[in-house]
Amino acid sequence: MREFTYERATSVEQAAATAAANPGAKFIAGGTNLLDLMKLEIETPTHLIDVNGLGLDTIDATADGGLRIDAMVRNTDLAAHETVRRDYALLTRALVSGASGQLRNKATTAGNLLQRTRCPYFYDPNQPCNKRQPGSGCSAIGGFTRQLAIVGTSEACIATHPSDMAVALRALDAVVETVKGDGSTRSIPIADFHCLPGETPHIETVLEQGEFITSVVLPPPVGGRQIYRKVRDRASYAFAIVSVGAVILPDGTGKIAVGGVAHKPWRLEAADQELSRGARAVSAALLADARPTEQNRFKIDLVERTLGAVLLEARG
Ligand SMILES: Cc1cc2nc3c(=O)[nH]c(=O)nc-3n(C[C@H](O)[C@H](O)[C@H](O)COP(=O)(O)OP(=O)(O)OC[C@H]3O[C@@H](n4cnc5c(N)ncnc54)[C@H](O)[C@@H]3O)c2cc1C
Ligand code: SF4
Repeated sequence: MREFTYERATSVEQAAATAAANPGAKFIAGGTNLLDLMKLEIETPTHLIDVNGLGLDTIDATADGGLRIDAMVRNTDLAAHETVRRDYALLTRALVSGASGQLRNKATTAGNLLQRTRCPYFYDPNQPCNKRQPGSGCSAIGGFTRQLAIVGTSEACIATHPSDMAVALRALDAVVETVKGDGSTRSIPIADFHCLPGETPHIETVLEQGEFITSVVLPPPVGGRQIYRKVRDRASYAFAIVSVGAVILPDGTGKIAVGGVAHKPWRLEAADQELSRGARAVSAALLADARPTEQNRFKIDLVERTLGAVLLEARG
């Protein structure tokens, strides 16, 4: 691990201003992803800003009947929260399908959104990887791609986003609230928060240097059946090969987001419109632009079948 300096943030504004002024700075929350990456020298921050003492650990109703989740709310607490379980069950289900109990006790809402890909080449410093080292090449293309993305990919990167929680937030139309280094704030719809790889796969979100996530806001509950189905190689403690997060309303309309297939939680509102025509139509719309490899072509069928199972469950 490279040497770094460390401080405990005293306020959100101070943390954002310090990080904005220091390109080598990173926030540390639960540390469950960042510390692993630092040990492998994939992440090499020169300064860590510990944001654990800032509070930011409450979940409150918003004025319009939605829910504001502070950035530092632990995944365990978020999943167990009474209102989340009742009104946003998709979020609870996605969270408890991820990682392990111990990890969820540490992992935070903001950190989960910003966790980095699990592409095996990204974690191997001996292999070229455009995400880890821009311009070095992509070892996955032409390599082992079974777990990797099938849609929204580029010639530079075919990695997936690994978060289960983010898939649920995408189907629930969450908004990410931030403070920038100059003290200004903004609200970013989750649809716009994560980037596709394009030519710059090392840029994973629209956040600016030093921009600090303060909370995630959910709109008022929409009800319906909320289901998260995750297909993975082991029954627990494994990332999704494919996952489907669904909100299915009594009239058959709804919202579908898919994990394990793209560089971001994958949802196309046009595909939601196909729900009345069934899983095949939704999946065809979602993956119309898919460019799978020979090794991960199976994910196209897997999305359709997983979605089919979700719709069957939603119909009771
Ligand atoms: C063995 C293992 C298995 C796992 N399995 C799964 C799984 O199945 N599904 C799944 O979804 N996840 C899984 N995870 C990932 C886990 O959910 C993430 O590591 C965790 O959510 C990251 O949260 P954290 O608070 O620890 O983030 P940290 O590691 O502290 O930080 C992650 C990133 O977020 C940044 N950051 C943190 N807080 C803020 C903030 N407020 N504003 C701006 N930037 C911020 C940090 O600078 C860093 O870049 C697994 C992890 C491990 C180690
Ligand atoms: S797919 Fe992306 S993360 Fe994986 S090796 Fe290629 S550039 Fe790196």
